[in-house]
Amino acid sequence: AKQAGRAQSCFYQPKMHERVVQRVYFETSLREALSKEQFSLHYQPQFDVNKKLVGVEALIRWNHPENGLVPPGEFIPFAEESKLIIKIGEWVLMKACQVKADWLKHDAFRDINMSINVSALQFSQDNFVEQVRHALDQSGVNPNTIELELTESMLVNDQDDVIRKMQSLKALGVLISLDDFGTGYSSLSYLTRLPIDQLKIDQSFVSSFSEGSRESTIAASIINIGHNLNMEVIAEGVEQQSQFEWLKSQGCDLFQGYGLARPMPEEDLLSLLSQ
Ligand code: C2E
Ligand code: CA
Ligand code: CA
Ligand code: CA
Repeated sequence: AKQAGRAQSCFYQPKMHERVVQRVYFETSLREALSKEQFSLHYQPQFDVNKKLVGVEALIRWNHPENGLVPPGEFIPFAEESKLIIKIGEWVLMKACQVKADWLKHDAFRDINMSINVSALQFSQDNFVEQVRHALDQSGVNPNTIELELTESMLVNDQDDVIRKMQSLKALGVLISLDDFGTGYSSLSYLTRLPIDQLKIDQSFVSSFSEGSRESTIAASIINIGHNLNMEVIAEGVEQQSQFEWLKSQGCDLFQGYGLARPMPEEDLLSLLSQ
């Protein structure tokens, strides 16, 4: 946390850097980060109702040579703006599939799903489905254990194109999750037309939870919508036991959050699983 704080104060000093200068600086160092392999993945466990570890979400980290570990919230927006997110996303996809394929060596990891974040810009590329096919082929991973996390922001564009792409992805065998669910602006009607396997309740409805609050009502409604449409529902941002218990009582299927496990490097995950 200390390192992240240091990185923040280096990057956001408005007096030192005009925004344009900052953007150019960021673009240059992001390109370098790609070519010098300064990115890595951390993994945050996902648990079922019995607190059995059943999946992980891959979360990108940037190990900046001078600024230490930079959290994605600080560079993803620049990566989107500069379109470098397309290349970064390709790297994440390939890396996560390779790592997941490697885990087949560990018996305890056989049934664990790997969730991978996909940015709207990456998804909108004409060759996105090809990218996924390539990562699956190269790694030899079982597609049924790969879950792509898409967001509602991808659905506002050309709906026919989105439907076609999702169907092609399903044909490859991967699972599709809708991330940050409940925060977008699109209509609910698309839920019935898209091949979505999982809804991920946004953490804003979970972290500010207290029983009887508006947030908890929304969370419970999302669980109902998901189940009525035969989708699995996962809650993110679960920090307290009371949140876990309440979401469980509402029928939520899966749980992710600091209260259960934080994102961690691969070594830590391996030792957690071999306990
Ligand atoms: P996200 O996809 O919603 O990921 C969940 C974020 O919430 C992660 O932050 C995670 O560390 C954090 N989190 C997990 N449990 C808790 C909790 O109990 N309380 C709180 N307050 N936070 C929790 P992180 O790793 O900093 O990532 C932030 C965002 O950056 C992600 O949000 C995602 O939008 C983006 N991101 C991360 N990795 C990638 C990637 O590989 N590709 C793309 N396109 N975006 C990524
Ligand atoms: Ca996510
Ligand atoms: Ca999310
Ligand atoms: Ca989010």
